[in-house]
Amino acid sequence: MHQRELVGVMIIQQQEQRGFDESEEAFMVTLSAQMAGLIAHASATGVLNKLWAYSDKRVKKETTHLKGIAAVPGVGIGHAVVVYPLADLDAVPDKETRNADDEIALFQQALDTARQDIRELSARLPENLPTAEKALFEVYLQILDDNSLGKEVIQEIKDGQWAQGALRKIIKQHIRSFEAMEDSYLRERADDLRDLGRRVLSHMQTQKHKTLQYPEQTVLVGEEVTAAALAEVPEGQLAGVVSSRGSKNSHVAILARALGVPAVMGTDGMSVSELDGKEIIVDGYYGQVYLDPTQRLRKQYLSLAKEEQQLDADLEQLRDLPAQTPDGYQVSLFINTGLNEDAGLSSSVGAEGIGLFRTEVPFMLRDAFPSEEEQRVLYKQLLGAFHPRPVIMRTLDVGGDKPLPYFPVEEENPSLGWRGLRITLDHPEVFLVQLRAMLRANIGLNNLRIMLPMVTHPGEVDDALRLLAKAHKELSEEHEDLPMPPVGVMLEVPSAVYQAGAIAQRVDFMSVGSNDLTQYLLAVDRNNSHVANLYDSLHPAVLMALMQAVQSAHTQGKQISICGEMAGDPASVILLIAMGFNAMSMNTTSLPRVKWVIRNVERAHAKELLKQALSVEDPMVIRFHLEQALEKLGLGGLVRAGK
Ligand code: PEP
Ligand code: MG
Repeated sequence: MHQRELVGVMIIQQQEQRGFDESEEAFMVTLSAQMAGLIAHASATGVLNKLWAYSDKRVKKETTHLKGIAAVPGVGIGHAVVVYPLADLDAVPDKETRNADDEIALFQQALDTARQDIRELSARLPENLPTAEKALFEVYLQILDDNSLGKEVIQEIKDGQWAQGALRKIIKQHIRSFEAMEDSYLRERADDLRDLGRRVLSHMQTQKHKTLQYPEQTVLVGEEVTAAALAEVPEGQLAGVVSSRGSKNSHVAILARALGVPAVMGTDGMSVSELDGKEIIVDGYYGQVYLDPTQRLRKQYLSLAKEEQQLDADLEQLRDLPAQTPDGYQVSLFINTGLNEDAGLSSSVGAEGIGLFRTEVPFMLRDAFPSEEEQRVLYKQLLGAFHPRPVIMRTLDVGGDKPLPYFPVEEENPSLGWRGLRITLDHPEVFLVQLRAMLRANIGLNNLRIMLPMVTHPGEVDDALRLLAKAHKELSEEHEDLPMPPVGVMLEVPSAVYQAGAIAQRVDFMSVGSNDLTQYLLAVDRNNSHVANLYDSLHPAVLMALMQAVQSAHTQGKQISICGEMAGDPASVILLIAMGFNAMSMNTTSLPRVKWVIRNVERAHAKELLKQALSVEDPMVIRFHLEQALEKLGLGGLVRAGK
């Protein structure tokens, strides 16, 4: 057994007729437990499939399928274009050079050409892509700058290494430091660096970069498909992305999501080189990839893909309609963001504003705390883009699984440690700078709302409000009539839910962070794959906590929203409506889908389903009932492939 699943049966035979004794049995149990892990790994990495194929040549040819992480939902069918590494950095040997000047010239020319590549790729990106995704290419250019990568490599050449070896050494040094980072988002930036290094190397090796032919329906496949490779596909021809490496946080997944292209990441162990040109189906709902599908499977998925397109087209029509149930219960729908999202994209899905701006994300992308002025400019941009719609900015929520590279916090148990408001209250100098930047950005706009993360008890709210009042008072001396924005608190620690009434009295609004609330209520680390099966926001205990939070807020006459992933989950949304949440905040892709649910479920019916859910003990059964309800309402297309 591996993680409660049967992976195989071990049969032991002996010549002598006798029973096995207890110690032999114990040995077999130990052996099978060890083997199960190995078999599960071999199966996940595709090694097992290969073994079958070698051991039995007569095996009937069936659709091969790979399992990965469902990174971007949707169904894509097309032909694989394998994106190879442009050049193999690992293969570059160390060599001394006697002619450093020539080597430097060679390197600089390659660097120049690589920069040109990136500029061209960036220019080919579709117009309507969010600025944040476009900015990625700016970051690439900064890395490839003469004063950045260029400087370090040239120094290495001057120290006697030939150009290719110098490049390999510097790139690998940076990759190692990225890979050692705790934060998964930053760790994955190592892939971007590796890609840029290869680009420069390929130009140095004067390998002519083979111009790839892209079929009408291209599925990009690679060991590590990069955002740059994705941008290289002509507009409208990208049907899917499959990458052995990476996860939901990879830039390529973020970009694919922005383009609405289904993606499966982390299909560890597939032998990429054998896939070129093959027909391939990408099921981004279940993280499945089918190679050389049978006629029947292809037909099934083709009709599913058609239905999906129809569904998206239908949902576009909801853009300007209110998120209101047929019996008149209205909710506000907002979006979550961490980057300076393009306001156009959010309007195109009908968002009423930003429900959660994770301010720590821009902090994580730098190598030092941004100054007050840098922050002001950033916040002003966002407030301006969304004006007059409200923007809820959450104060710095670092620590836990989101450390800052320049503010290391070493802890045994980081999720229960120094994070969020706990850090900013201990570092008022950091907190005050952020609050001042927000207040200054809000001048002349007045659509800012401030939200406090990781509140454990009301006293912390008092402390934070005191600091906010101080920042406001100081700035008021320079700016007359400086508006004081509404302040809210995130309910994401169980203690805060129990004290929600006391907290609500102190603030203007509250928002449930169901990601952390689930983690802390169930004692399940949200990033630990070993216990991922226990992490479920539909756990009855979480549902009861949510109900209590709503009730406490409303008793105090305060509005309450929810901004964890649960708000973007169509099945959960039914229960959230029943509970009486006033607003929900989610990613842009989920918003039209959630609106569709709201517009189709009577609140009375949602309340019945909530009652039913509360009588069930198992979250899986609750999900099953909700998905069935969606199916009955004709909304099944939201939780599986097809319409
Ligand atoms: C949450 O915890 O639900 C939340 C929205 O915050 P984050 O995911 O950034 O911790
Ligand atoms: Mg949180």
